[in-house]
Amino acid sequence: MTSIDDGCTACGQVSELSAVSVQEQAARAITARFPGSILQIPASKVGDNFEIYFQGKLLLVFDKKGTRYHFPSRRKRNVKWDKVTTFGLPRVIDFILRDLAEADYEVLSSKQKKILKRPIHISRYMRCPECKEGGGIKIILRADSLPEENSQLFTAISHDVDVNGAEIQCTLCHWIGIREQLLQKRRRARKR
Ligand SMILES: [Zn+2]
Repeated sequence: MTSIDDGCTACGQVSELSAVSVQEQAARAITARFPGSILQIPASKVGDNFEIYFQGKLLLVFDKKGTRYHFPSRRKRNVKWDKVTTFGLPRVIDFILRDLAEADYEVLSSKQKKILKRPIHISRYMRCPECKEGGGIKIILRADSLPEENSQLFTAISHDVDVNGAEIQCTLCHWIGIREQLLQKRRRARKR
């Protein structure tokens, strides 16, 4: 009878029968594709918990159940490992890296290319949830200033200002938030 293959210790390849946990595989794969990030294993939870830090800030905690986000993300606070059953681990790792990219962290695709943020599409018909006005919504560009030709679509907010994951600003009332919060133009014609 052969023993269970724990993977190749020389090359670090992990086999399917490996004892390496899902959370450890995910944490190590994400650290490898997140330049400057640091993987830490809390002494009290060796083998169970893994943490990813970037520039001294805790961003992700991996445990038996899933990954908890400690950075502002548009939709999610965590990813549960039951997703791995549906999508497979490589895709779940990609989902997490995508969320980091959307939150302005520089992370890499499996081909070692920088993952770019998705373009934001806003319509002039969308209205601000704060002042209820249309026409003032612009996309936040993290910069100190903005060339005049871009000011129709973008508004500049310095990197020093914490926008807590916001991607758009109403230039009429200075509300900031995300696209999903915008009010759609009423479809039905109003009675007069
Ligand atoms: Zn507004």
